[in-house]
Amino acid sequence: MHAQPDTSLIENLEIDGFRGQLITADHADYDVARAVWNGAVDRRPRLIARCAGVADVVAAVRFARDHDLEIAVRGGGHNVAGTAVCDDGVVIDLSAMRAVWVDPAGRTAWVQGGALWSDVDHETQAHGLATTGGIVGHTGVAGLTLGGGIGFLMRKHGLTVDNLLAAEVVTAEGSLVRASADEHPDLFWALRGGGGNFGVVTSFRFSLHPVGPTVMAGPVFWAADDTIDVLDFYRDFVAEAPDELGSVVRLGTVPPLPAIPEDLHWRPAIAVACCYAGAVEDGERAVRALRRFGTPLVDLLGPSPYAAFQGALDDTVLHGWRYYWKATNLAGLSDDAIAVIADHAYAASSPRSYAAMFHMGGAVARVPHHATAYAARDVAHNIVIDAVWLPDESGEHAAAETAWARRFLQALEPHRAGGVYVNFLDRDDDSSRVREAYGDQTYRRLADIKATYDPDNAFHHNKNIRPS
Ligand SMILES: Cc1cc2nc3c(=O)[nH]c(=O)nc-3n(C[C@H](O)[C@H](O)[C@H](O)COP(=O)(O)OP(=O)(O)OC[C@H]3O[C@@H](n4cnc5c(N)ncnc54)[C@H](O)[C@@H]3O)c2cc1C
Repeated sequence: MHAQPDTSLIENLEIDGFRGQLITADHADYDVARAVWNGAVDRRPRLIARCAGVADVVAAVRFARDHDLEIAVRGGGHNVAGTAVCDDGVVIDLSAMRAVWVDPAGRTAWVQGGALWSDVDHETQAHGLATTGGIVGHTGVAGLTLGGGIGFLMRKHGLTVDNLLAAEVVTAEGSLVRASADEHPDLFWALRGGGGNFGVVTSFRFSLHPVGPTVMAGPVFWAADDTIDVLDFYRDFVAEAPDELGSVVRLGTVPPLPAIPEDLHWRPAIAVACCYAGAVEDGERAVRALRRFGTPLVDLLGPSPYAAFQGALDDTVLHGWRYYWKATNLAGLSDDAIAVIADHAYAASSPRSYAAMFHMGGAVARVPHHATAYAARDVAHNIVIDAVWLPDESGEHAAAETAWARRFLQALEPHRAGGVYVNFLDRDDDSSRVREAYGDQTYRRLADIKATYDPDNAFHHNKNIRPS
């Protein structure tokens, strides 16, 4: 492992030719610049190198390597484990690199490594185009893509990595390379699921698809007491669903959003949120049975601008709140699994805690298993249990919410499929869970490629794959 660097030998924390911002502990912006989405993460880097462009990223990597400093890489800063920041070392911060260039004729876009999904949706929707992104607009493109990328469009258009055509990467030795099917194909394979282990991605090139701009989308809520019936219905409903229909189940309370009547706010509830990646009238038909099921508390499913729908959850998971996650792939939605979910989903103390279950399959499952480093293509559902508490809530709250998430995962043990989505792993998920995310064969191949591109494991502040 890395020895503690003797930074007293570094006369000043200046990087030659750096055009962005260099932020140290004495800088007025230091506390804002070191904060990430998860307010439970409190790390104090020695230097935050906020890059203005690719040349700055190259310079920052070389500087950190020359001085044997710990490196963290920040895209959107959203990872729950807070790996975008480190103690003592250098944060290579791409948050000022958020440009998106769309080629509407070629249906592709170049996206810089610090962009958020709201940036991508905003620019691509100007042309009626989109690619698979996350379900919250303020999530970073880089971290999400490098872990695989799941979202409402995936059953029709594949994972985010299935839409990745090329990436510009600054390697551990500070060289700039392009990875694609033709250039550094081994690196390109590893970037499509292997996380931030292989270099700093300064830009991504994605394929785009006609989507919207108006789509049939939104959630339907039912009372928590109806959970078993709703999930029982949902299991059959999604088994028959066309690829166009993406859906996520959210179990918790009704969020206090302006679109929802106030008397329902914070009521324990199950929601099924859908987005139909096709014509609105076809979408109406595809969701009709869902909307007619039981007695919904509120039905917000209707024609909606795709970009607005993609931002609809943004205010339910604010920056600075405290978060702790547990996640797993599910073997299926058996009656027993449904009973466990109904039993635990509403047992958190905080009304902000919730669980989200993604329906996979469709185009995700049709890509050959070893075509990319994303390993769990044959899983129908995965679940992430999200414990939430507020900054001014005491340690007792943190302990109670964390214990709830752990108990919930424990209870799901008999219903787990092997594997977990690597981007849902948290601070206390150790290397065995990283191996679990990939499975032995994919992990070994990733470790070999890591040995080629980062033999010293300079990029280890992540869900680490050790070089073989
Ligand atoms: C509210 C919320 C909703 C989410 N929804 C979804 C979802 O719908 N679908 C989904 O797939 N995931 C989702 N996620 C998980 C998400 O994929 C991860 O949190 C991901 O790490 C976020 O990317 P980021 O760039 O913001 O991460 P950061 O925290 O900035 O970085 C995380 C890690 O990614 C690597 N990294 C970041 N930028 C770069 C770069 N430019 N080059 C190389 N490596 C880099 C680094 O290793 C870094 O440690 C969600 C997360 C949150 C918090």
